[in-house]
Amino acid sequence: MKDTVYIDGSLGEGGGQVLRTSLALSMITGKSFEIKNIRAKRKKPGLLRQHLTCVKAAAEISSAEIQGAELGSLNLWFTPGKVKSGEYTFKVGSAGSAMLVFQTVLPVLMLKEEESVIHLEGGTHNPMAPPYHFIEESFAPLLKKMAVNISGELKRWGFYPAGGGQVTFKVSGRQNLLPLTLLERGEEVSKSAKAYSANLTPEITEAEASYIKSKLDWSDISTESQCHSVGPGNVIMAQKKYENITELFCEFGEKGVRAPKVAQKLVSKIKKYISSSAPVGEYLADQLLLPMALAKSGSFCCTGLSLHTKTNIQVIKSFLNVNFLLKESQNNWIVSVE
Ligand code: ATP
Repeated sequence: MKDTVYIDGSLGEGGGQVLRTSLALSMITGKSFEIKNIRAKRKKPGLLRQHLTCVKAAAEISSAEIQGAELGSLNLWFTPGKVKSGEYTFKVGSAGSAMLVFQTVLPVLMLKEEESVIHLEGGTHNPMAPPYHFIEESFAPLLKKMAVNISGELKRWGFYPAGGGQVTFKVSGRQNLLPLTLLERGEEVSKSAKAYSANLTPEITEAEASYIKSKLDWSDISTESQCHSVGPGNVIMAQKKYENITELFCEFGEKGVRAPKVAQKLVSKIKKYISSSAPVGEYLADQLLLPMALAKSGSFCCTGLSLHTKTNIQVIKSFLNVNFLLKESQNNWIVSVE
């Protein structure tokens, strides 16, 4: 009889991350899990298309037995079998984030030396999820330091509500990941911002870029209004690259919200990060926990501990025998794994 881990989906943040981390660690440890109250703290609780795609993707990779894998389901039983690297295609079937499907399958596939190729369809640039460029420019270079190779190709952008984005990732790594230590940013290397849009008038990206130019003395601020996408969409992304880390900030255009307002929100995010000295921002913090736990060692300094981060720590500890040390230091937090 395999060990079973019982997870309460209403834990902490009570969102989709509890499910994705559980799926990833179930495949890695071979432990079955049962989750109740899936996404209990969200407006529409239960499995949405994105989460269901994550469940099915994990089941395919690990030949798992599953119960409760239906749209709207609040409970799920998942018993993994043998994990296989290889070539996979996962389609969300809506504008739900395909990048979060990648987040689910990456941890188990990166522990294999053989390469896996993952074709994804769905949202590539969604609010409340890592945009494709965040994975490519910020997350993948840090995993490279842990001996994981991730290379991506964005074939078509997927924005809400049309979706239809296409991305392919190649992943390979090793069983014993190298520990990551990320306590300082290092010297600044570059800073840039770019406003992107698809199937919308170029005035939007121009207005966003000109607002950013008026607020930041950055020389590299540009626009691209011809992104290849089935539906309309608009996102501004800003990148701050240091010796030890690249952070990526984004803000999405919305119907009824004026372009300068969108740019203003992005500038506040950038300024908040600049006002701190910590290398790791809020989102990277919760995404680095799992690789660090798998490496069984490492530490990073982050700008704050979000409820997301604290919740992810709890879920990881339900599956792995690891200890996270959290220490406040000059308005930042140092997170270490022992
Ligand atoms: P829900 O909670 O509705 O199920 P969800 O499935 O999208 O939503 P969350 O639990 O909110 O799941 O997790 C969102 C994930 O996306 C987290 O890993 C978070 O770090 C990441 N994320 C959110 N916004 C950004 C961003 N701007 N840049 C990078 N990563 C982001």
